[in-house]
Amino acid sequence: MDMKNFINGVWTASASNQTTDIINPGNLQDKVGTFQDSTEDDLQQAIQSAKEAKTAWRKLSGAARGQYLYKAAEILEKKADEVAEIATREMGKTLAETKGETARGVAILRYYAGEGMREEGNVIPSTDPDALMFTKRSPLGVVGVITPWNFPIAIPLWKAAPALIYGNTVVIKPASESPITFAKIAECFEEAELPAGVLNVVTGKGSLIGNGLSTHKDIDGITFTGSNAVGRTIGANALQRGAKYQLEMGGKNPVIIAKDADLEAAADATISGAFKSTGQKCTATSRVIIHQDIYEEFKQLLVEKTQKITVGDSLEKDVWMGPCASRSQLDNALSYIEKGKEEGAELLCGGKQIEDSSGYYLEPTIFDQVNNKMTIAQEEIFGPVIALMPFSTMEGALDIANDVDYGLSAAIFTTNVQHTLSFIDDMDAGLVRVNAESAGVELQAPFGGMKQSSSHSREQGKAAQEFFTDIKTVFVK
Ligand code: NAP
Ligand code: MG
Repeated sequence: MDMKNFINGVWTASASNQTTDIINPGNLQDKVGTFQDSTEDDLQQAIQSAKEAKTAWRKLSGAARGQYLYKAAEILEKKADEVAEIATREMGKTLAETKGETARGVAILRYYAGEGMREEGNVIPSTDPDALMFTKRSPLGVVGVITPWNFPIAIPLWKAAPALIYGNTVVIKPASESPITFAKIAECFEEAELPAGVLNVVTGKGSLIGNGLSTHKDIDGITFTGSNAVGRTIGANALQRGAKYQLEMGGKNPVIIAKDADLEAAADATISGAFKSTGQKCTATSRVIIHQDIYEEFKQLLVEKTQKITVGDSLEKDVWMGPCASRSQLDNALSYIEKGKEEGAELLCGGKQIEDSSGYYLEPTIFDQVNNKMTIAQEEIFGPVIALMPFSTMEGALDIANDVDYGLSAAIFTTNVQHTLSFIDDMDAGLVRVNAESAGVELQAPFGGMKQSSSHSREQGKAAQEFFTDIKTVFVK
């Protein structure tokens, strides 16, 4: 599919007359399509159309805005197979995963559609007996959305859906690895007859279009998910001009395996958390902190299960793990594997690119003898690589787990109530999970990280309202 920009309700070619090809990372012979290399002028038109649409959109009732979201959900549900297949071909995750993600996208749309009819403020007793004081919510205006490729359906939707339901209009710049997936979603809004200009899509270079969104005076709020380096610039740009911003960034998520854990279940959850989506989740498990008494036994379990993983073309049914999403993702993971070896970690399994293949395939990789000073224990790899580390006391395990710059998700496997409670209290992470893998998110609950993982705001569920609206305190007498 040759994708155009979606501006003011019309699919429009860029003034640049330039496009970029999208190649399936699992099959380099498969050209998925092209997208527009947009210019600042294209972006300006999209922002202008969102600005012109905003008054009429915010004046609709929440219930009326919700109807568009319900309709878009229904259409997306009908196109689920098509959307999932495009997503798999664009970024390489298995079809089972992209189907699950599409279903999640439908559920997100329905959840926020309903939000149009839920309460939005509080009555607060005034000290003046003759007055009425209450809060109400106002939309920000035009919201800029910048998204990564690793959840090309769910992330744009968990930003765009709340933005829209709370009365904002949107300009979205999807990741350059997965723009067509979002074009398919924009088509659902188009078919739902969303008014022109309420949702606009502009593709192109992050450094031009993404940066242009974050610096534009008419963008009232900007929501970003991606890497820390880019997030920091976007935050600084927004702060400088007084716009609201929200950043969701990296992770270095630990799982602690206590000696009283159900080791079989813990090993399955560790493998799933670490290697699903080829390890390319911000919530992926990357550090496995194991009690010394069960270290050898658990290590064996992990290696055995990892060696059974089928790596291959994500469109095929019995494939469990697909390729890395791009050449640069593969190279990045390989360079961390080299660094792990150089710094003295022991490679237990994996570690190599799968050479005789038609895409960017990497073996699922486990490192032993890792200590917290090593690069692979500190930096986000964003690939199928885990580091094993031993502990002797729960305090020691928590020290290791907390000794990183990130704080997105963390898991523990234990049957001990005291250990569970200290983990919940003392683990510095936005998502704290007990006897469940690190990579799990429910759309109706707050999502986000502590420390360097986020700008401390939360997405999803009711928490999204905090970012996508401003509070007005009203005093009536
Ligand atoms: P990325 O390189 O930061 O890109 C994210 C988005 O920002 C893309 O749309 C990109 O456009 C755009 N961009 C690039 N440079 C920009 C600039 N100077 N100004 C404005 N926008 C710019 O991240 P990625 O490689 O796509 O995704 C991987 C990262 O996302 C990982 O660090 C991962 O942990 C993080 N992530 C976090 C969460 C979370 O919720 N915490 C969820 C998923 C992923 P182009 O594609 O055109 O470069
Ligand atoms: Mg990128």
